[in-house]
Formats: sequence, C-alpha cells, structure tokens
Amino acid sequence: MCREIALTRRAAGLEALAGEVVACRACEVAGYLTRAHPIRPTLIDDPRLMLIGQAPGALTDRKGYHFAGPAGRFLESWFDQAGFPPGYFREHVYLTSLTRCFPGKSPAGNGDRPPSKAEIALCHRFLERELQLIQPKVVLLVGKMAIDAFLGKHPLTDTVGRVFKIEQRLYVPLPHAELARLRVELGL
Ligand code: SF4
Repeated sequence: MCREIALTRRAAGLEALAGEVVACRACEVAGYLTRAHPIRPTLIDDPRLMLIGQAPGALTDRKGYHFAGPAGRFLESWFDQAGFPPGYFREHVYLTSLTRCFPGKSPAGNGDRPPSKAEIALCHRFLERELQLIQPKVVLLVGKMAIDAFLGKHPLTDTVGRVFKIEQRLYVPLPHAELARLRVELGL
C-alpha cells in the first residue's frame, strides 16, 4: 500500500477514535468518576514517537489537550535540551496516557489521585487502538504507572536510563515529569 493511502487511513482511524474517546463515559457509569471528561487526542500529521503518561492533570482537564500543564512544559524542555528542533514535542510526538479523564485530587490531599486499575483497564482499549494505528517504533513511558504497565513492576532506578526492545518496538522509561520538575525547581 502506498504511504499516502496508509497515512489517510490512519488519519481517518484516529479521527474516528477521537470521537469515541470524547463520547466515553465508562468510568462515570461504573462509578469511578463523578464526571467523565475525556481529553480528545491531538491528531498530528506524522507522529514519530508516542509518549504515554499516567492520566490527565487538572490543567489538562481545563485546557483540553494532553500534557497542557507544567509537566508538559518540562517534557518539552527535555526535548529541547536533547537537541530536537524547536516545536518537535508538540508537532511530532503523539501524546497520550493510560487513562483519558482527570481522576481528581487525591483524598489524602497529596496531589492528583492516580487512576485505579479498573479505570486503566476500561481505558486500555483506546490506548491499544492508538498503538495499532500509529505503530510507533519508539514509545516513551512517563512515570512509574506507565512503565509498570508495559515493562512490569520494577524500581524506577532499574528502568530509567535504559531502553527496552520488545517485538521490534523500543520503550524508553522516563521519570514522572511533574515530580522531576519539582525536584529540579526545589533543588531536591
Ligand atoms: S478514563 Fe477512559 S474509559 Fe474512563 S471515562 Fe475517561 S475515556 Fe472513558
């Protein structure tokens, strides 16, 4: 199949998927969320990398696109520091996460609530379709939950800094961007 036809089919598949994502209320119906507000996937022309985080944060929930908050800016700065051309992060990296709705604040008051296993399982079908449609050669896994989901449970120190090859795909674990940002800002 010629590349142009393949790209057109992929764009159509992603557009259809985006419609299904924004209409999803599965976690609300199941009682895991009081209000489901899925983040619409940002469709980019020719994604070179896929980046998978944990779940949308409050700012992403308000602004409506993935990694809209400080973690996104921090990741963008990593790309700039690594020598990628300006704008590469938003233009060529397909951004997504294990779940697509902001889980809300943690009841303990220490940041955002991590999505539960049940929420991740309900949302997995969307991630699976994104992987099938985009067929990324390289997947960046941001944070322990995303790393564990693909590479199994390991201490972060055993995975960050390494590259894992599974069935012709490279997985690159990265620390949780928001925590890494705070560590840098507070000099921890
Ligand atoms: S987190 Fe995923 S499965 Fe749950 S309501 Fe949002 S889009 Fe649907």
